Amino acid sequence: MSNFNVAKFGGTSVANFEAMSRCASIVENNPQTKLIVSSACSGVTNILVALANGVQDAEQRDSLVNQLADIHHAVLDQLSDPVETEKSIQTILSSVASAAEAASYQPSKKLTDHLVSTGELMSTLLLTQIFKERGNNAVRFDIRDVMRTDDNYGKAEAQLETIFSLAQEKLLPLCESNIVITQGFIGSDSEGNTTTFGRGGSDYSAALIAEAVQANGLEIWTDVPGIYTTDPRIAPKATPIPEISFSEASEMANFGAKILHPSTLVPALRHDIPVFVGSSKQPEKGGTWIRHQVQSKPLFRALALRRNQTMVTLRSASMFHAYGFLAKVFEILAKHKISVDLITTSEISVSLTLDQTDTTGGAPELPATAKAELEELCTVEVENDLCVVALIGNNISKQKGYASQVFSAVENFNLKMICYGASPNNLCFLVHESESTDAIEKLHFELFEQ
Ligand code: ADP
Ligand code: ASP
Ligand code: MG
Repeated sequence: MSNFNVAKFGGTSVANFEAMSRCASIVENNPQTKLIVSSACSGVTNILVALANGVQDAEQRDSLVNQLADIHHAVLDQLSDPVETEKSIQTILSSVASAAEAASYQPSKKLTDHLVSTGELMSTLLLTQIFKERGNNAVRFDIRDVMRTDDNYGKAEAQLETIFSLAQEKLLPLCESNIVITQGFIGSDSEGNTTTFGRGGSDYSAALIAEAVQANGLEIWTDVPGIYTTDPRIAPKATPIPEISFSEASEMANFGAKILHPSTLVPALRHDIPVFVGSSKQPEKGGTWIRHQVQSKPLFRALALRRNQTMVTLRSASMFHAYGFLAKVFEILAKHKISVDLITTSEISVSLTLDQTDTTGGAPELPATAKAELEELCTVEVENDLCVVALIGNNISKQKGYASQVFSAVENFNLKMICYGASPNNLCFLVHESESTDAIEKLHFELFEQ
């Protein structure tokens, strides 16, 4: 095991010169922290995604590239020695302009990953220079030399064994006498093409890196002092949770708590690496520790909301008392590489939601070819603009009386696909997007504010 921590700084934590300087103080105040994983500066990935989706109008494209230039130049302007960093940023910005033009003719997932990766490539150039100018021994490392993935652009799969051996060979020796600053979110396939882990993927990158170097701990620095009982932007009375188990926090991440990318805790759990979540703006406020063993395991821990859900309902009278129907449905879904998330069934119908989408954002879609094949078997209804509301807790379904407490809180909402019992850590259902934040507010009030 290495005797150091990996720290990840999110977009708002590296939004500008002052924010980046706060990151440097956090690391300087903890000599245990040696390896830094950074997101792109706040707002940058959104602009890059817009360009990657193809902006036809040249003036509009230029204006977006200029916005990117402004964000990065605002930091360059505050450096004491900006020359080399500025040259590198300029080269990247020129490549963005030409890739954005190419995307306006023909967008592709591969080109999208190439484009969106530039956000992290630029932020780490700036962050490294700030660390150096403060007198630290800092080096920037291109994580694509270690973070090997498959070529599923926008939603790449990490190739763990290769990552581990490349990290031992190339990354660990650098950490011996330097603070190493590298990129989250991005990787590369075996042919050297850039890949990404999907939006918010820097958390996952940091966890993979922590696992690969067998770090002592993983610090996730963001804009809130820890994981709250729900998104504090939705319920202002939400409170921070000092300590939470891996399984509860994984459920929260899976069910859309944006604070952690859904896959983040998988590597940390595999190597039992404790994870700390705190605010880079207010590090003195402490934060949340995610651990294997925790002191308290309350019945209701938190609420999560995942937007952009697509529900598919399949109905067939021949499903009644028949066998093989579901097998055929899943055979078709598997053939089209469609991953299913939630599922509920009745005698003659089955409803399911499609798994999350990739870097380009938006709701997952049922491909027309898959729909046509399913329609040979049954009727197919697709509903969009839905959200999953998830209640996370401990042994929820084993507790008497909890259901009336939960469901009476949301009796005025139209609930679909209620799922509970399969996991001891959650109960969830779908609501229409227009009702989703009200449902969270009401549940939070009834279950956490009384
Ligand atoms: P970063 O850029 O640092 O990765 P994100 O915006 O991805 O930050 O995640 C932090 C945000 O997650 C918070 O500002 C908050 O609005 C949101 N969030 C959602 N659920 C929670 C929760 N349960 N606790 C804290 N923050 C949450
Ligand atoms: N920059 C990427 C995004 O905005 C990855 C991340 O910040 O985690 O999605
Ligand atoms: Mg994030």
